[in-house]
Amino acid sequence: MYNFAGVLDHNLGRDPDKIVLSHGDRRVSNRELSARVGALAAGFRELGIGRGDIVALLLYNHVEFVETLFALNRIGAAFLPLNYRLSPAEWEFILDHAGAAALLTEPEFADAVATMPVRHKLLLGSTRDGWLSYDELLSRHAGETVAVEDVGPDDLQRLMYTSGTTSRPKGVRISHANLLYKNLGHLVEFGLTAADTTLVCGPLYHVGGLDLPGLGTLHAGGALVLLRKFDAREVVDAIERERPTNVWLAPSMMNALLQLPDIRERDTSSIRFIIGGGEKMPVPLVERIRAAFPSAWFADAYGLTETVSGDTFNDAGHMLSKVGSVGRPVVHLRVRIVDEQGAEVPVGELGEIALSGPKVFGGYWRDPEATAKALRDGWFHTGDIGRVDEDGYLYVEDRKKDMIVSGGENIATPEVERVLYEHSDVVEAAVVGRPHERWGEVPQAFVVLRPGATVTAGELAGFCRERLAKFKVPAEIRFLNQLPRTPSGKVLKRELRTSPVVA
Ligand code: ATP
Repeated sequence: MYNFAGVLDHNLGRDPDKIVLSHGDRRVSNRELSARVGALAAGFRELGIGRGDIVALLLYNHVEFVETLFALNRIGAAFLPLNYRLSPAEWEFILDHAGAAALLTEPEFADAVATMPVRHKLLLGSTRDGWLSYDELLSRHAGETVAVEDVGPDDLQRLMYTSGTTSRPKGVRISHANLLYKNLGHLVEFGLTAADTTLVCGPLYHVGGLDLPGLGTLHAGGALVLLRKFDAREVVDAIERERPTNVWLAPSMMNALLQLPDIRERDTSSIRFIIGGGEKMPVPLVERIRAAFPSAWFADAYGLTETVSGDTFNDAGHMLSKVGSVGRPVVHLRVRIVDEQGAEVPVGELGEIALSGPKVFGGYWRDPEATAKALRDGWFHTGDIGRVDEDGYLYVEDRKKDMIVSGGENIATPEVERVLYEHSDVVEAAVVGRPHERWGEVPQAFVVLRPGATVTAGELAGFCRERLAKFKVPAEIRFLNQLPRTPSGKVLKRELRTSPVVA
């Protein structure tokens, strides 16, 4: 059975001197990466880590993140990326739930995780009592390597917890086969080759940063440029300096980029395609993206942790004619829109998005109940509401949990958000359902205005009234300095929903 780690040996044979990882001034060739991965794999073996074990990574985006995941996969072990913006209690919950054998982190987090329940604790960059030094482990095994371990169809490539947008994060079991089919889909979709370079500015602990197309680019023999974490100005600087061919930008990241005053004067011509997704991209932003990145194909995308990301992409030919659509499924993935009973609904009708194919995960870690709810009759029920048009293009309307039902009418919250985004004073908008005695629920909007904006809540409501059916107009509009977001940048609607009502 295929082990993802074998990609490195292949790339080494093809082009040993090619620079495949860059971070700041650091440049790592296939030769150096292979040597470090080999030594590290031998080091993990010495620690008694092997096939079936799980090692957690609590790291910013670093070269070490990538080399460690290759080293672990090489010996048949899996990695567990931890979201560095969670609280120590949340890290502890995940480490315990996952049964992780070891944890690798960096000095910034060392104190917070010192007492976590793992057998081995490894530290980057410095030595401390009670910690194993990563650099020492590497140098102790310099020149060694281990053969790529055979893996079976159920062997974990990684264990990855969801963003926790709607509930407590769930552990998603991702196998080597899941990743292989995900990469195949992205290779076909984007024609990835060794000439491609992905700028990784989203976090590697999330499928967006790691897999859009991230590991797929390495699979094709291409390269990654890593930014430690997202910063809009650094993204544009890196595009000019490193000339990457592609980048994943979730709507909140894209929005931050578009706010840069000089964005249209910057040289973004190396970018062949930008992948969207993670959240609904408001249509008014797509026009602004085209102006800021005139040479790029904006491929709006739909995907989940459970499918290793990137299930559908909007193709270059339909960027405008199908604006608002997340496009069509990648190869070997089937999309269906189903009703409550799981039966397919007619073309154009709304229902739950269900997915099937070899990139779909095998189940949640130690959670048979959630697995049985999500995986039924060979289909993964995503909890998202959408429709497919007569040409097979998918439109994501809303999360099932976010859809508002007002006086018996359904309101997809992105439809109201889209109108708010059309107002020139609005930078960000989120709409949630607020309980209402007569209508059951009414829409309530939370809006971030651009600095110096003077528009009032009453004027914004008037703007919405001119563009929306009466029942969709927010019953209340509140201004915030920023929207609450998950660490991966998604609006936390469950927090907005519980904010106190303004009389
Ligand atoms: P949790 O499952 O813990 O609540 P999460 O659903 O945010 O967290 P992810 O796997 O990061 O976890 O995100 C997948 C979800 O993101 C999808 O189910 C969907 O709701 C949303 N999403 C992804 N792409 C899009 C898109 N293009 N348009 C609208 N929503 C999207």
